[in-house]
Amino acid sequence: MILHEDASFKIYFGDIKDDCVKSDGNYNIDYFEKIGSILNLEKLVFLKQVHGNSGVCVDQNFLEKNTALFELNGDYIVTNKRNIGIGVLTADCLPVIFYDPVHHASGIIHSGWRGAISNIIENCVEKMKELYQTNTKDLTVYFGACANVCCYEIQADFLKNLETISFFEDVIIKKEDKMFFDLSKLVAMKLIELGVLRQEINFSYNNCTICDERFHSYRRNQGGVGRQSTIISLK
Ligand SMILES: [Zn+2]
Repeated sequence: MILHEDASFKIYFGDIKDDCVKSDGNYNIDYFEKIGSILNLEKLVFLKQVHGNSGVCVDQNFLEKNTALFELNGDYIVTNKRNIGIGVLTADCLPVIFYDPVHHASGIIHSGWRGAISNIIENCVEKMKELYQTNTKDLTVYFGACANVCCYEIQADFLKNLETISFFEDVIIKKEDKMFFDLSKLVAMKLIELGVLRQEINFSYNNCTICDERFHSYRRNQGGVGRQSTIISLK
């Protein structure tokens, strides 16, 4: 794991050592308790991810309800509460982390291609604008590890999924007789269209889950249940 920490927030980037899911497919609650205590968090919030385009805001009302881990469905979480960890689990999908330094607010998204084309990125940014008056040009964005273009092979019938994306040719790379999909680039281009500054998208942690064996990969493990967690908390 890597802990990216600065004066305002910390981000936990997990890896193959994360033991989030038991072999029977159930969440390993002990792991989440351990990580919450290592990160010194008051509460950890994860959702039951559904590859959709909606999410949850963690506000005072949410905290008072004392919602259990994974009780609610959704694929993004936003909050401006301090010492609350908001997280996603991934194995090839892209974890996208937002920090708004002007309004001290954060967001995190679980985005595969399904979420990306059904506008989860836009919806999460819109929610931060509505709740925290976030201006996209102020956002700092971090990408976690995901299936990257070096390995994310697709077949011709996948292209129909990208029909609504105006720049879809920019996210498909052809090598010999194979085609590869650039999920990170798709999400980055969407963010830039929304007004995020290119230099504010940090790719330092955007390793490829398929060829980098430090990470869980759904594709490399032929559908295995292992997942890494990514968590941001505000100080
Ligand atoms: Zn790769």
